[in-house]
Amino acid sequence: MKLIFLGPPGAGKGTQAQRIEEAFSLRQLSTGDMLRAAVAAETEVGLLAKDIMARGDLVPDEVVVGIIADRIDQPDCANGFILDGFPRNLAQAQALDAMLLEKNIALDAVIELAVDSEVLIGRILKRAAESVSGPRADDTEEALQHRLQVYEQQTAPVADFYAGKGILRTLDGMQEMDEVTSQIKAALR
Ligand code: ADP
Repeated sequence: MKLIFLGPPGAGKGTQAQRIEEAFSLRQLSTGDMLRAAVAAETEVGLLAKDIMARGDLVPDEVVVGIIADRIDQPDCANGFILDGFPRNLAQAQALDAMLLEKNIALDAVIELAVDSEVLIGRILKRAAESVSGPRADDTEEALQHRLQVYEQQTAPVADFYAGKGILRTLDGMQEMDEVTSQIKAALR
């Protein structure tokens, strides 16, 4: 199964993607996690991405498109994958389309978790305060506001793009986590 998880920061995409990864033996590919690993390892990509991420902007499309193109060819993705945090704008969605066409891969579904924006800030600041590894550089109130704005302006149109293809499933991300998981599973059956 080839899936995309869409949703604003704090919608619970990452948690749900991990659960679905396990339940369906897929591979979760989080561009945010991969970029944070690159920043920590101070690779070339990491050095380029560090400040961009800290202020809540998007790293250049060619960087993330390249990361995903390499990753989905790996043997651990043979049974399927969940793209978490990618595509994040229309250009990335179009690049993904071309990439999948070339590899003869079809997407099965795009799961969108909808959450009211007022709820998101509270969720993320709480998560940042409780994090064992310490808060992320982009979990300040200012960067967070910017991430939400970037989501509204650049990522929300991606949902329409997949709605047009008839594969968008929008679920209520404000329900309890277990309920959201059940609904995702039901949507995939
Ligand atoms: P969240 O969804 O909570 O904002 P992510 O871990 O998905 O967190 O992303 C964190 C940051 O990583 C983004 O704000 C952005 O700077 C960068 N990033 C992640 N995925 C992409 C992407 N597909 N395109 C561009 N930048 C990305």
